[in-house]
Amino acid sequence: MVVVTGTPARWHRARAALTGSVRGWPVWAAPVPLLAYLLAVIALAVAVGVHEVATTPLRGAQLAAFGLLVGCGVVALEASRHTGEPAGVSRDLLSAWTLPIALLLPPVYALLAPALLTAVKQLRVGRSPLHRRVFSAAVIGLEGYGRATVFQLLAGGTLAQVGRRGEGRMALTLLAAVVVGFGCVQLNAVLIAVAVRLSTPEIGWRQLLGQRADVLLDLLELTVGTVIAAAWIASPATAVLALPAMIYLHRTLTHNQLRAAARTDAKTGLLNAATWQEEATREVSRATRTHAPLTVLIADLDRFKEVNDRHGHLVGDQVLAAAAAALQSGSRSYDVLGRFGGEEFTIALPGTDLDEAARITARLRQLVAEAVVPVGRDSVQVTVSIGAAVLGRHGQDLTDLLVAADLALYRAKAAGRNQVSFAPTR
Ligand code: GH3
Ligand code: MG
Ligand code: MG
Repeated sequence: MVVVTGTPARWHRARAALTGSVRGWPVWAAPVPLLAYLLAVIALAVAVGVHEVATTPLRGAQLAAFGLLVGCGVVALEASRHTGEPAGVSRDLLSAWTLPIALLLPPVYALLAPALLTAVKQLRVGRSPLHRRVFSAAVIGLEGYGRATVFQLLAGGTLAQVGRRGEGRMALTLLAAVVVGFGCVQLNAVLIAVAVRLSTPEIGWRQLLGQRADVLLDLLELTVGTVIAAAWIASPATAVLALPAMIYLHRTLTHNQLRAAARTDAKTGLLNAATWQEEATREVSRATRTHAPLTVLIADLDRFKEVNDRHGHLVGDQVLAAAAAALQSGSRSYDVLGRFGGEEFTIALPGTDLDEAARITARLRQLVAEAVVPVGRDSVQVTVSIGAAVLGRHGQDLTDLLVAADLALYRAKAAGRNQVSFAPTR
């Protein structure tokens, strides 16, 4: 199972998809295989936990170390409590504290730490549906447990035991911990992305595999966690010195995530209307200044009301997300995609003239038409109508272009839908 190892960034995304926070499902509305999967993961974590607690000898020094490291995590959480927690897909830097636990203490502690930290999150930072928190704790706990077990098997003991065998060996082990850890995280991210993609095809690869910043964050957590573990061996007090830096990073990260969340539309992951307008205005100014071509599109799903009427709003939302993902998958990284409202999307295509726009819109139309959303044994597909307007030819600023594209869209609808129409040249 891909659950046992792996780490934060991608896990959070994958988990959010699996537990439905991307779709906004309540747990009881999730499909049976998904529920079975959630329960199986939680049961596995509980079973491993019970077995390990019963078989690991209790040592005072280990308990104290566990308490102190978890305590640091709690302090970091408390210190950034008022910044809040981004809804749905988010990440924190708590593995900087749970990784040392995995390296320094018997594996059972790495299993238990996320449960405690998640409970603190739930009680102090913000309420999230209980099933999501419990599943979170189980997954991260199993991941920590797997990591601790593998590390200690390969290194021949905990980090402290390795340290006693000489400095050279210790340095090598620390380096190996980071390199192997990083490799595991990336491999795991791919495995999970494949699994999620198979079960939820409308989630795009880009959303699942994340951006470069996530890879850097993975590395940051791994290296800081390893450094804290090494410092711990020198003296536990020095490890605690990392606390202010971690609190600062935690706050900055949360703040950035909240800012990103305020820019995007939760249902589709595209920019929200206000942010799209801001970014598209900037692109239009740039294109005007540099005499570069630019095209603006408005895409409206065809007879979407019927999808809602026939299958209900939840399925409607899935179809909406699938259409957004299809549009995203057919766009280039520098295209600006937004949800204008309802089932309407706006897209700014920088550096795109009429001919290029004709090719791109044909591709987008086809990708939406091909997207399939499974509903029980059945499936739903929609089509899209697209209106396009080219800078210079159909308008001189964003407002002109939107008016022209809207008119073109109206013509595409009138001509029978599932087609692209360009504004008449002014
Ligand atoms: P047309 O081909 O002419 O565009 O037909 P249409 O049914 O798509 O157009 P209409 O504007 O009559 O209906 C749009 C529907 O989109 C109505 C509304 O219920 C639905 N809708 C808007 N926003 C959302 C949403 O966020 N989720 C869901 N599920 N439905 C939405
Ligand atoms: Mg509409
Ligand atoms: Mg419509």
